[in-house]
Amino acid sequence: MVKIKILNESEERMEVLLSETDRSLANAIRRSLISDTPKMAIDSVRFQLGTKEQDDEIWETTGPIPDEMVAQRLAMIPIPTMHDKFHFQNECPNCKDLVEDDRGCLECQMIYTCVVFGTEEGRWVTAGDMKYLGEESLEIPDEYKSIPITKLLKGQMIEFYATAIMGRGRDHTKWTPVCGVTFQPRRIGILKNKSKAKILWDLDLEITAKDFGKDGRLEDIEKVATLEKELNHVGEGTEEAREFNDAVYLEEVPGEFILSFDTDGSMSTKTAFERAINELADRFGSLDQDLAATI
Ligand SMILES: [Zn+2]
Repeated sequence: MVKIKILNESEERMEVLLSETDRSLANAIRRSLISDTPKMAIDSVRFQLGTKEQDDEIWETTGPIPDEMVAQRLAMIPIPTMHDKFHFQNECPNCKDLVEDDRGCLECQMIYTCVVFGTEEGRWVTAGDMKYLGEESLEIPDEYKSIPITKLLKGQMIEFYATAIMGRGRDHTKWTPVCGVTFQPRRIGILKNKSKAKILWDLDLEITAKDFGKDGRLEDIEKVATLEKELNHVGEGTEEAREFNDAVYLEEVPGEFILSFDTDGSMSTKTAFERAINELADRFGSLDQDLAATI
């Protein structure tokens, strides 16, 4: 059974150590994070077109970039995703029996509105200008309010209703809650030749002989990451390489992998990871049942 240990965790980045497993499971988690984890994203936008008279001025719904591009930008804005409050539209208890066009209720869609008028010197329309029709906790989070959408000059205005629904990254990237998902085998440093290793220590870098245990091994994950970079000074292609001759080298730990990823801000890293694991477990669970049914 795979063991999971969180190495580093913040709202937007997570690093975990997977042990007693293999590369295929680490990759399955990576893929699940990218394509299976449910996320809310803006899927349709209704632009109000026309002119408006306000303050003795005529405002027209035109802007420097086409509506299609505005819609594309809206899709990329991280929408706060509450998995326990919203359903997929085809699973929504109120809407699942309706035809696709009629679906959409308080439990399966989120609507944001935006009305902005331009100014003489140009007014940026940003994600923060979108107001959520509903409770405040589902507004775009402060740290993402500055995401630019378009810029309007005097006489130009924009007005739209944007609807977010739950989806999966396998259907469109806008529903992918993570980016930069990578994994690599966990490695440890091995001190093979103490006298030759001096070439590296003499460079006066961060890692020293003292960091290695009596058995000549360095296991601390962060220090190994530093060592990996520092070995470039004596590695292949350097003048010291021949003499150094891998006096210190890195060795892979069998069955252990370090997986790391960022989220786009639509959910915490912990939620994304838990959901990805659940999706995977569900998938294998139903595979198990299918298998049992056919045998
Ligand atoms: Zn619904």
